[in-house]
Amino acid sequence: MIASAQQIAGIGFTSQRTRTRMIRRLIDRGIQNEQLLQVMATVPRHLFVDEAISTRAYEDVALPIGEGQTISQPYAVARMTEILLQEGPVERVLEVGTGSGYQAAVLSQLAGTVFTVERIRTLLDRARQRFRALQYRNIHSRYSDGGWGWASHGPFDGIMVTAAPSTIPEPLLDQLATGGRMIVPVGEQTGVQSLTIITRTRSGFTEHQESDVKFVPFLSGKS
Ligand code: SAH
Repeated sequence: MIASAQQIAGIGFTSQRTRTRMIRRLIDRGIQNEQLLQVMATVPRHLFVDEAISTRAYEDVALPIGEGQTISQPYAVARMTEILLQEGPVERVLEVGTGSGYQAAVLSQLAGTVFTVERIRTLLDRARQRFRALQYRNIHSRYSDGGWGWASHGPFDGIMVTAAPSTIPEPLLDQLATGGRMIVPVGEQTGVQSLTIITRTRSGFTEHQESDVKFVPFLSGKS
């Protein structure tokens, strides 16, 4: 089913006015990419969570999406996307951890093609329904352990990992194009994780840490 214009527009706590408030908060917290802010003002985040909590969709918090997982808070989505796009437009992006599909939807409006993988079947099915209903045609998704990347569609100009591994899986490094960047929260679940930015150069990789973050764990296998 295609979402109606009315559903996409929202009312009350999901209306354009509420979304504009979210955007103002992102700007206050330092997000500057105009195109990204524009996209986040229009992607209907309230349709990526259960209807029962949709009135909270534009608060700057992570929200439950079932299976013990969360839709990342808007600031984390904005910051990670801003970093990914910092050096200019990206053509092919791989996202690991589709979850609700919200991050992929935001990326789809800013990159050429988005490839996204998820290890929990029920979450992926729901995300796919949303992509269809909202007619995001440049998102390709796959049910798999994202630790393997998606080699047949690589190399990628950008890779974004939205769950935290304790070390970066080797295949993801292999599938990063020269000049491409990867954003990944690295660290143990018991402590804080560092939002890490890896850039592939002609001679290898450079790495730097951006800030401390808290993400759900990166798990192997399918569920
Ligand atoms: N980007 C998502 C955030 C979801 S939370 C959104 O916008 O809603 C992180 C997601 O990563 C969860 O759905 C979890 O199941 C998934 N995940 C964790 N480890 C994974 C792995 N090895 N491969 C693929 N997905 C993984």
